[in-house]
This record gives sequence, C-alpha cells and structure tokens, in this order.
Amino acid sequence: MYQRELEVAARAVTDAARLCEGVRRGADSGTLHKGDLSPVTVADFGSQALVCRALADFFPHDPVIGEESAAALLSAPGAGTRQKVFAHVRAAVGEAGEDEMLAWIDRGSHATYAPRFWTLDPIDGTKGFLRGDQYAVALALVVEGMPVAACLACPNLPGPGGSRGVLLLAERGRGVTCQPLFGSEEGQPVRVSGVGRGDEARFCESFDAGHSSHDDSARVAAMLGISLPPVRMDSQAKYAVVARGEAELYLRLPTRKGYREKIWDHAAGSLVVEAAGGRVTDVVGNPLDFSRGATLERNRGVVVTNGLLHETVLEALRTVGVAAD
Ligand code: AMP
Ligand code: MG
Repeated sequence: MYQRELEVAARAVTDAARLCEGVRRGADSGTLHKGDLSPVTVADFGSQALVCRALADFFPHDPVIGEESAAALLSAPGAGTRQKVFAHVRAAVGEAGEDEMLAWIDRGSHATYAPRFWTLDPIDGTKGFLRGDQYAVALALVVEGMPVAACLACPNLPGPGGSRGVLLLAERGRGVTCQPLFGSEEGQPVRVSGVGRGDEARFCESFDAGHSSHDDSARVAAMLGISLPPVRMDSQAKYAVVARGEAELYLRLPTRKGYREKIWDHAAGSLVVEAAGGRVTDVVGNPLDFSRGATLERNRGVVVTNGLLHETVLEALRTVGVAAD
C-alpha cells in the first residue's frame, strides 16, 4: 500500500547513511552543540538535507517533522560547519546552491501534527556516531497518528554474511525485512524471538544513563530473573535488535520528570518491532500516541518487547514503582 513511499524512503535513507559514513571516515565531524548541549555534526545536517530533498521531490505536500533546523548553521559559530555540510551534500547530489541546501534542511523543521506527515531523525544516537558505535538514520511515514511505513538504517549493526550495516523496511500489517545497507541483496523477513521466560530474556537499553534509568531497569531485570548484563547501545538500533530476535526487551525508563520523548526517536523503530510481531507501549502500557506534534506528549518512557514478555515487564514496572508523572 505504501510501496512507493518505502522505495523513495529507502533510497533517501541509504544516501543519507552513505553521507554519514563519509563524514565518519573524514577527519572533522564539524561538531556544534545545541541549546540542550547535545552534539550535532555535519552528518546530522547533511543527512537531513538529503532525505528532505528526496521527500520534497516525490511527496511535495507532506510535512516533515525532523530533529534539525538550519538555524545553527546560520549563526557565526556555525559558518565552518555549514561549509562542510555543503561540500558533502554537493558531492552527493551534484549541482546545488547553499540556500537550496538550507531550505532542504528547514523543510524538515515542521513541528505540528498533520493527518499525514513524515518524521526523521537524520542521525539518531549522535553520541554513538561520534564514538564509532551504533547510530541510525530513521524515517517514518505517520498517517492518522500511526506510523505506517518505516525505514531504519543502522550502519554499524552486523548484517547477513558478516557484512556491516543493515536497512530495515517495515509496513504496518505487512511485516519487516532486513537487508545489507549498501548491498543489492533482497530484504529477508525478520521476526521477534519466541522466548517467553523472563529468566531467559536478553535486554538492551541506552548507553547514556541520562536517557534511560539504568537503576530502574536493573530492578526490573532482577524481578524477571534476567542473569545476562544489559546490552547498552545508542539509537534505534535497539529496536532493530529486538525485531531481529537478538534481544527480547528494550527498556527506556524515565530519568527525570517532565521529559517527553521525541517522535523521531521512536516512530520508525516502534513500527519495525510491531511489524516483526513485537509490542511497544509506554511504561504504563499505553500505546505510543504520534498525534501530538513533535513529542509523545501523552506517554512516559517506552517499553519494547517481543510481545510474549510484555505483560510481565509492565507488572514488574508497577512493582518497582516506575510510573507516569
Ligand atoms: P539513545 O541513543 O537511545 O540513548 O537515545 C538518543 C536520544 O535520546 C536523542 O536523540 C534524544 O532525543 C533523546 N534524549 C535526550 N534527553 C533524553 C532524556 N532525558 N530522556 C530520554 N531521551 C532523551
Ligand atoms: Mg535521536
């Protein structure tokens, strides 16, 4: 049903991931710091420019709620980064003007809900990207408040046959496939794991303890009888790991009152897991509500499972006292 959207998204996200890998191999990521002190690099802006350019070409009426805007590149400290972004974007698309590039980036800075829109995290897990660890390019189409098509590139996750980098494509009701990111092989269907016992579960969580409470997840893990240590990684690569059946749980437990999850951190990943047979809710069991603009205003935290363990985890969270504020 959304085959054309997925084709366009897959090509755009692959081009964006190639740009990110080019920046990673280069000497200078041109890192700036945003208002909340989180880092943003040449690759974040370049990735957003490429994806938004493709969406503008093929779906000119669809708004895009993305993480970045061009504002930081227009300030004096951003000038050097702007030039580097421009060099990478021009190398990817051929002729383009600098103003055109800034307009592509800003095409993704829409913030309000629409009945049909895209949401983009041009680099999810920027800190992981800078460390040489996991990161993702995540793009989803949201219709009537629900992600219906998703494209998730994880350039550092192992692929089939020892390759590096995978691309997951999901469509609501039609499953999810995984293929080598820069290869030409067809995607293979993936499914969540069939492990139903808590004490056999493997779980993953944020590398950054500021993004998810490691203390609360350790309490939940103890209640479930989990003996393996958590696998900590940045980005929506965690959703890919659950979708591929390599872990049963991904817990994202609130670290502070008032924080609201950003839709671009979850739209693509949550559909990938649901289409692979898993379940995604907030910490009290409510479905994620993508109809509130840029944030999951009505949700707290995120609980991702293979489905079989979902109620057990929600029960453990109630017992541990993790609740909505
Ligand atoms: P991860 O790589 O899974 O740790 O998530 C990275 C994302 O965490 C970033 O893209 C931010 O949008 C988001 N983030 C920033 N601060 C917080 C917070 N206090 N709680 C949860 N997520 C956050
Ligand atoms: Mg992110």
